[in-house]
Amino acid sequence: MSIDSALLKRGNSKCEFCKSDKNLSAYDIPPITQRSLDKSVLVCSSCLHQIKNQDEMEPNHWRCLNDSMWSDVAAVQAMSWRLLSRLSGQGLGWPEELLEILYLEDDVKKWAMSDMRPVDEPTVDINGVPFTVGCSAIMTKDRYITGANFMAKRGWVVKNIGLTNKSTSIDGNLNGFRVVLGTGYLKII
Ligand SMILES: [Zn+2]
Repeated sequence: MSIDSALLKRGNSKCEFCKSDKNLSAYDIPPITQRSLDKSVLVCSSCLHQIKNQDEMEPNHWRCLNDSMWSDVAAVQAMSWRLLSRLSGQGLGWPEELLEILYLEDDVKKWAMSDMRPVDEPTVDINGVPFTVGCSAIMTKDRYITGANFMAKRGWVVKNIGLTNKSTSIDGNLNGFRVVLGTGYLKII
């Protein structure tokens, strides 16, 4: 059985938070390394939209957490905890009250809290200055560029820099090529 059909079965074809049966889909709870049933929840489009857009959460919609937090599915418990945490501190009162009585096993609590990560690490140069899209940097070391087969020399300028999916590298134009370079030998100019 695919994850999605197993999820539909587990949720009884209803959103695991508000019980709506409209526009259901799977939401994989971050951080995701690999999709699995245990790390997914079945959600309606309204819940999904608000999960993804924290600024647009309608507190009244999430009164449903009052029930969903007692689910015997760990993923629903963990996500309920996260959502209640998001709603707390806004003067509503009830999210804090629910958080107080919501009991989570240690590993579920740890998982729920793992979302409280700092913002993604910025990509910075050797002086700790963050790269911005389109900026230029100077090479502070000679570096052989494997993909393009040339030796880039200290003092060469990398132009039109773009960010990659890692905070330790950038891509940019160098010597007529588009290359990926480590940030450990670049100084923004
Ligand atoms: Zn829902």
